[in-house]
Amino acid sequence: MLRTRGILDLMPVSPIDGARSRGRERPLIAVTTSEMRDPPEHLTKDQADPPRREMALGLRYLEAIESSGGVPVVAPPMGLVAAEALLDAVDGLCLSGGPDIHPSAYGQEPHPELGPTERELDAFELALVRAADARSLPVLAVCRGAQLVNVARGGTLIQHLPDVVGDQIEHRQRERAENLTHAMRLEPGSLLSEIAGWHDGAVNSFHHQAVDELGYGLTATGWAPDGTIEAFEAPDRPFLIGVQWHAECLIGWPEHVRLFQAFVAACRVGGGDPRARATEPVGG
Ligand code: MN
Repeated sequence: MLRTRGILDLMPVSPIDGARSRGRERPLIAVTTSEMRDPPEHLTKDQADPPRREMALGLRYLEAIESSGGVPVVAPPMGLVAAEALLDAVDGLCLSGGPDIHPSAYGQEPHPELGPTERELDAFELALVRAADARSLPVLAVCRGAQLVNVARGGTLIQHLPDVVGDQIEHRQRERAENLTHAMRLEPGSLLSEIAGWHDGAVNSFHHQAVDELGYGLTATGWAPDGTIEAFEAPDRPFLIGVQWHAECLIGWPEHVRLFQAFVAACRVGGGDPRARATEPVGG
């Protein structure tokens, strides 16, 4: 159910006409930066730039997009006018993982286990997601990014998973990110399942939060064995998929690489039917 509180009142619920069909062979894909960092130690030394806050983004997202045939464009926080202009110029949006979203964005008080939050980053990314969503721009959202999409559509989050599902599954794995550590079931017939080519598989896991109440128009399409929602999609959009696992680290797995390839393919055709194109070879 769509809540009405503050900026959520502005949430567009129908696509803007004239979704692009640019057909760029190597689509431009905006990637949000994931984390704000305080001045690193080395910058306080001589012969370096003055200390300042920085944005951080794991290179894995950029590598996954490029190797799938797209051109990644890093999108730092900016004003809405600039963000709209950015969305005019790109063919898709990839939302990266990062810190917890401040629960005020979905009308809750902070849980004691809430991690560090960046409310300015939250506000920018929520606005960016809504603008991209309104354009029917293809969106692939990873981890925090998936949580953002859900909140942007009026959904809520479980602030600390062990409270709800216990600890039978280690959602913050200690193994390396390329390793698949917990089972995953995808809904047969879902876009995600058709892209992935499997219903029962496994993923990596680096999160302590997850989707609780789904946002407007979103359908859960992937679950961990403990019932945690790990994937969802928007049937009213050509390609809007959120995954709780770090798909950008799994492109070495044949059963996982197709997600980024299908996303780039959807961006390439400007939001056409990605089911028809998920199996085409990646251009270039
Ligand atoms: Mn998990």
